[in-house]
Amino acid sequence: MFKKILIANRGEIALRIQRACRELGIQSVVVYSEADREAKYVKLADEAVCIGPAPSAQSYLSMPAIIATAEVTDAEAIHPGYGFLSENADFAERVESSGFTFIGPTPAAIRTMGDKVSAKQAMIKAGVPCVPGSEGALPEDPKEIVRIAREVGYPVIIKAAGGGGGRGMRVVHTEAALIHAVQTTRAEAGAAFGNPAVYMEKFLENPRHVEIQILADTHKNAVWLGERDCSMQRRHQKIIEEAPAPGIPRRLIEKVGDRCAAACKKIGYRGAGTFEFLYENGEFYFIEMNTRVQVEHPVTEMVTGIDIVKQQILIAAGEKLPFTQRQIELRGHAIECRINAEDPVKFVPSPGRITAWHAPGGPGVRVDSHAYTNYFVPPNYDSMIGKIIVHGDTREQALARMRTALAETVVEGIQTNIPLHRELMVDAKFIEGGTSIHYLEHWMAQHKR
Ligand code: ADP
Repeated sequence: MFKKILIANRGEIALRIQRACRELGIQSVVVYSEADREAKYVKLADEAVCIGPAPSAQSYLSMPAIIATAEVTDAEAIHPGYGFLSENADFAERVESSGFTFIGPTPAAIRTMGDKVSAKQAMIKAGVPCVPGSEGALPEDPKEIVRIAREVGYPVIIKAAGGGGGRGMRVVHTEAALIHAVQTTRAEAGAAFGNPAVYMEKFLENPRHVEIQILADTHKNAVWLGERDCSMQRRHQKIIEEAPAPGIPRRLIEKVGDRCAAACKKIGYRGAGTFEFLYENGEFYFIEMNTRVQVEHPVTEMVTGIDIVKQQILIAAGEKLPFTQRQIELRGHAIECRINAEDPVKFVPSPGRITAWHAPGGPGVRVDSHAYTNYFVPPNYDSMIGKIIVHGDTREQALARMRTALAETVVEGIQTNIPLHRELMVDAKFIEGGTSIHYLEHWMAQHKR
């Protein structure tokens, strides 16, 4: 087992990884920017090293600073968390060529899954159901593009192979708009992602976002840990996640879950990962794979009792998965609300000093957050300051727990989206379950937000 791990991230996930290390008896080194000097996990760290000023490009995205810190602190492995360098194949490669273990998949797997065209091709080959669309990247010839779109059927969506974070996509409803849309998306993709390749998919009108968590070790074992419904989104950003996904027949989910685990074995995947799907009219359609731990991993931990971050570390150390697929049991229902430092109506970020912080508690309540009374939320990074996760025997009980937890939570000095969560937890349609990815934006329009 590793003696020391460097955590190349910040915020709640840095604290989450630090806790996992501690439970495993592993020392951890935290890197931080000048803006994060006051953060709790920095104070709690076995070792903490300032690696640069506030802008991420000069700190959390600085590969030389992170690798040099691993060298001087004698860390053996690097955990990248999510965001920042977590899905950067060049970083994973540099970590490994510098003699450290990258806690994540191989650079080759990150590269394949990072390009959406190659990811989709790999999934089709592995028997994972995908959204109907072009076979690979679109050709140059406009006539060919028109022919492909007719075959797929309108509306279609043009997507950048190198896209991410909900950017580099364009919906096309008519043939008249097609070629211009392809050209514009190509130009934008070239400028934003350094790769002008685009592909085409059928645009699904009212899908849900349902994803499958997997774990794979280096001994050819792979399991899936149930699914998560992450349909509650604003501008493609998830804000509420839950497990299991309400109202989807188990045998359908089991079929797709087994396919995902089989695909991992087929491509020699290692570590934690998530297969993201759109779900519509009883069908699952793969859209992309995340090759890292996700923000919403706790809902899966609550229903399976499996510590995903610890498993990431154990897998990276070469250990075998300690359970088989048959031993994985889903128990009860879990819901997560992401707490963001932002205006709950206009969504503008609200950084600043937290003058009062009271986290909720009680049975089945978990809070993953680095915030505390007097913590200063820096303006330089993502606005998420924590997550409230609840578990109950049923979805109803989980909803009741979340309402209680949100009612107990106090955050003063800055604005947060807690009022929005409180409203959503009593919304009739959300309580019913199974709302689509458009529900939140429609709801906000109706509530004059
Ligand atoms: P990103 O990597 O930028 O997150 P994704 O491929 O995961 O891109 O897509 C992001 C979101 O865009 C999805 O969650 C969904 O809301 C929408 N989307 C993507 N592809 C389609 C599609 N074929 N039909 C309808 N919506 C889509």
